[in-house]
Amino acid sequence: MLATVWNCGMMKPRLGRILAPNLATSPCLCLLVETGSSLLLVDTGLGTRDIADPGRLGRSSAILNIQRDPELTALWRLEASGYSPSDVTDIICTHLDRDHAGGLSDFPHARVHVHKAERDAALNPPTASERERYRECHFSHGPDWVAHDKLSEAPWFGLDCIRDMDGLPPEIVLVPLPGHTRGHTAVAVKTGDGWLLHCGDAFYVSRELSEDGKAPLDVRAFRTLAHNEHRLAMLELVRLRRLAKVTSGRITMFATHDFAACRELDGKSFG
Ligand SMILES: [Zn+2]
Repeated sequence: MLATVWNCGMMKPRLGRILAPNLATSPCLCLLVETGSSLLLVDTGLGTRDIADPGRLGRSSAILNIQRDPELTALWRLEASGYSPSDVTDIICTHLDRDHAGGLSDFPHARVHVHKAERDAALNPPTASERERYRECHFSHGPDWVAHDKLSEAPWFGLDCIRDMDGLPPEIVLVPLPGHTRGHTAVAVKTGDGWLLHCGDAFYVSRELSEDGKAPLDVRAFRTLAHNEHRLAMLELVRLRRLAKVTSGRITMFATHDFAACRELDGKSFG
C-alpha cells in the first residue's frame, strides 16, 4: 500500500495575514492511495469546477480567496501522474465541507465513503450554517455513497474506529472525530512505512498536538467559528494529543490546512 500526500487546493483568505497569520496560506492536503489493484483518494480538495467558478463555494467564496490554479486539483495531479479519473474507484472523505468535497464531481464513477452522520447532514443540512458550508453543487452528480457508522469492537490505538469497510482494504480505518462537523472523521492508512493519519480539520497547525496544547491565538479564534460543535471538537483534539503522545512519532499525523505540513509532505510517498 503506497500513499502519497497531495495538496489539492490553496486558499489565501482576504485579510488573513492581518487577522489570522497562521492560516493566511491554507492548503488542502489529500492522499492518493495505491493498493496495487485500485486507486483511492482521501478527500478531494477543491474541484476543477470550483477553480473555474469560485462562486460555487457560496457566500464566503470572496473571503476564502481560492487560488485559481488548475494544477492544484486532484484531477490535474492524477492525470499528470499518468492515471485517468476512472482509475479512482473509491474516495474516502474526512467530511464534506466545500474545501474537502469540491473535487467529487471530477470523479463521478468513484464510490464515496463517509460517516453516515456526515452524508445525512450534507444532503439535508439541519441548520443555516450547515446549509452554507455544504454545497449542493458538489453532490448534484449523484455520488455513489457508501455510508459508515458501525464501530469496530477492536479500537485503533485506543480510539473508537470503523474497520473492514465495504469495498476498502483493511489497512484503511475511519476514526470518528465529530465536532468540526457532525460526521467528521480522521482517516488512517497503513503503509509499508507505518500508519498515516489524515486528521482533516480536527486541528490546523501541528503545535495544537503538543502536550501543552497552546495553539496560536488566531487559530484558537478561528476554530470557534469553524467548528459545528466546538466543545465536542476540543474533546476530540484532546484524544489526538494523547494519541500523539503515546505513539511518539510512530504515526504521521497531519491536518488538511497546515501549511508547514504541506511544505514538508506535499508529493511525499509512504510505503
Ligand atoms: Zn477544511
